[in-house]
Amino acid sequence: MNAYARRIREIAHRLLSEKSVDAVVGYRAGTVPMRARPFIARTPAEAGELTWSGFCVGNLAKLAGGLSGRVAVCAQGCVSRNLVGIIRENRLTRENVAVIAVPCLGMLDARKIEAKVNGRTVTGVREEGEDVTVTGADFEEVFRRGELKRDNCLTCLHRNPVLADETVADPVPETGGGDADKIIELWERKKPEARFDLFTRTFRDCIRCYACRDVCPLCHCTTCFVDRSRPQWLGKTQDEPDVLTYHLLRAFHCAGRCTDCGACESACPVGIPMRRLTSKLESDARRLFGHEAFLSLDAKPALAVYSPDDPDEAFS
Ligand code: SF4
Ligand code: SF4
Ligand code: SF4
Repeated sequence: MNAYARRIREIAHRLLSEKSVDAVVGYRAGTVPMRARPFIARTPAEAGELTWSGFCVGNLAKLAGGLSGRVAVCAQGCVSRNLVGIIRENRLTRENVAVIAVPCLGMLDARKIEAKVNGRTVTGVREEGEDVTVTGADFEEVFRRGELKRDNCLTCLHRNPVLADETVADPVPETGGGDADKIIELWERKKPEARFDLFTRTFRDCIRCYACRDVCPLCHCTTCFVDRSRPQWLGKTQDEPDVLTYHLLRAFHCAGRCTDCGACESACPVGIPMRRLTSKLESDARRLFGHEAFLSLDAKPALAVYSPDDPDEAFS
């Protein structure tokens, strides 16, 4: 068991034993390699099932937002910001959330790992700091974490949680990530026709399973616009206009609120890089308005603030 998992179990066991929370939201090991499943521990004994690894790629703020009572939530930088969002959007009160702060080393991308080992079957992954050892029936290879991180974790600007009631480890250095604005080049260097072509190619294989919506902590409307039939905002088919409209509207619903947690991309069964849209909006909010989503409980959302000096260009 790694040091993070051990500490999470200790904290969860204590909080549940002293009944200061009704549940602890975290992860337990998946049933197959390279997976961790969200898990709600409700008893001190269940705290012993909690774990932490580079495969904790969901966003637990989504789960926490639907619970009643007082809950503790394991949260790395991005998830802690989404907890701020959930509090700001009145789905939880600060008093009812205890944040177990997890300074983050970055989450791993199972698809990158599979590519590194040329598609051979992975039976185990062992993480020791920056070293990641990948094993199979007839191989063992060691990689640096940076080679295997999810793209959003490579450019993450806030690895340390912005809220903390309990702390799992000392803060990690904020490396500044890679170039968080690189995604802009993808769009802005292109002429409109080429940009539209990239847009259609990006989402061409989408099967509209809505996993990206279902895992996103920003999506909490009682009835999502895609499910409405009166009025029907968009068609239900997998035809190109319906697919593209779904992704455009979903991305704009996230504008100024997305923490680039990457849960949507990690959940996609066909590998759609939908962060190409959400990261562009997030980047626009940062560059044009100096806004980053949910960094503190006091900050207002970008689209709730007006200044006469605001640039006219936005989210283009
Ligand atoms: S986006 Fe940042 S805080 Fe979130 S999992 Fe990746 S590195 Fe960690
Ligand atoms: S998870 Fe992937 S396939 Fe499913 S709707 Fe989202 S982009 Fe499309
Ligand atoms: S849109 Fe994707 S990256 Fe942004 S908060 Fe939602 S799940 Fe996370």
